[in-house]
Amino acid sequence: MLQSIDARSGTPIGEHWPESNLAQIAEAVDAAEAAAGDFASTSAPQRAALLRALAAELEADREALVALADRETGLGLPRLNGELDRTTFQLRGFAGVVERGVAHERIDDAAVAGPPPAGRPRLTRVRVPVGPVAMFSASNFPFAFSVLGGDTASALAAGCPVVVKGHPAHPELSRRTAALASRVVAQQGLPPGVFQFVEGASIEVGVALTKAPAVAAVAFTGSYKGGIALAKIAAQRPRPIPFYGELGSVNPLLVLPPALESKGAELAATLASSICLGAGQFCTSPGVIVVAEGSAGDAFTAALATALKDMQPHAMLSPGIRATFDRGVAQWRATPQIKPLVDARDGGPATLPRPFLAEVTAEDFIANSALHEEVFGSAALVVRVASTDQAVQVLKCIGGSLTVTLWGAEVQSDEAHRLVRVATQVAGRVLFSGVPTGVAVTAAQHHGGPFPASTQPFTTSVGYAALDRFLRPVALQDAPQWMVDRQGVPA
Ligand code: NAP
Repeated sequence: MLQSIDARSGTPIGEHWPESNLAQIAEAVDAAEAAAGDFASTSAPQRAALLRALAAELEADREALVALADRETGLGLPRLNGELDRTTFQLRGFAGVVERGVAHERIDDAAVAGPPPAGRPRLTRVRVPVGPVAMFSASNFPFAFSVLGGDTASALAAGCPVVVKGHPAHPELSRRTAALASRVVAQQGLPPGVFQFVEGASIEVGVALTKAPAVAAVAFTGSYKGGIALAKIAAQRPRPIPFYGELGSVNPLLVLPPALESKGAELAATLASSICLGAGQFCTSPGVIVVAEGSAGDAFTAALATALKDMQPHAMLSPGIRATFDRGVAQWRATPQIKPLVDARDGGPATLPRPFLAEVTAEDFIANSALHEEVFGSAALVVRVASTDQAVQVLKCIGGSLTVTLWGAEVQSDEAHRLVRVATQVAGRVLFSGVPTGVAVTAAQHHGGPFPASTQPFTTSVGYAALDRFLRPVALQDAPQWMVDRQGVPA
């Protein structure tokens, strides 16, 4: 059963309703399959018009959507208005990408007379949409990683119908956004299968959707646990399909000695804000802070603890996410090798989450793999390192991460060189200033990273390269003129 819940008070609002049953899921996927061929052969202007109309309708319904999102997530009006802006920016951005011909790019090799290997037929490499995409929304971005978020925008831009599974933590918002999307699809004269919506509060809905034979790819944003379970299902189908899973991440942040010495106190305050932003409910939230031993590192750690103590994160997205956060912190607290610096028991209203910060030596951190896992919320570990070697080991033992931040690597040195090398080996995005929370939507963006940050490290779920996930290359050999004239638009 699905139920809208006020995130701040925990009060259920209105009636509950049933999740999609197997017949409804099959119907949604069938509709998407029926629409796939015609939608794949739409022109760039048609797809751009759809994406722009979706953005315009979101804006037209802003007041109601944002109010609903605020009630169901507790994220607050400024953040949610900003997120809606990001979502419409993203939809319009993909419209521009399609208009620039990116989805229909081709490579044309003219025929060469004579025997092989130099002699060859004419070959034109084009890309075709993969077909219906199953899309799993995340709880923590009710607009930007939800029903009309980046995955949906990039799949539609690529020419793929989507079947969205709404997130049960914002079910009424998901329904309203899905109804809006279906209206826009109809207004654009496109078949209803271009956008389909299913909903569920149990894992059965997502499992059935991933197993549906006509689904050609899955885009997932969510937890490691959920992502891995669904990735296995996608791989074990009679016809395995690509599973683009963007999962949780610990996002190590290294404060190197030049940064500690020049502006340690300022950076500590910036970092405390990043750890508490959105109650720490960001996949890019910094969870491991690597700081050198010694007095400058001590001062930085103390300043970070002082800044965090005074912060009060807002209510978390759902009781389930709050319970997982409390469990994660309790597990850290029960680890004898860690020394709490800011602990939930320091005070504050019991109903709201409290930030948690603890310190641990590099040896103990490296030896305890449980400490390498994401605690989703305002919690971080300060790992004290005695050398660059140890910092490298810390990064390596954490493994794949969406981001690594290196503060103080402006001047080239052997240490900076080694750390940048390992950072680029383990992360999808390496930052040299600023905080990892906040992921710009651009052509150069990469939001992914080696496993376990992502199940497909070569792809991104944010930025315009996200479109590449849903286009499969095909080489056309000696294509007839009418095909050549289509200029990369599939037949
Ligand atoms: P979640 O609990 O994994 O939920 C995501 C979706 O997956 C939901 O629709 C959920 O459906 C479904 N699901 C989860 N486990 C499943 C299973 N075993 N079988 C079938 N379906 C399953 O994640 P969340 O609570 O929304 O988000 C928090 C996590 O997402 C954090 O770890 C965060 O770091 C990560 N995240 C990552 C990114 C990124 O870009 N890498 C962005 C945002 C968030 P049900 O709830 O119906 O089970």
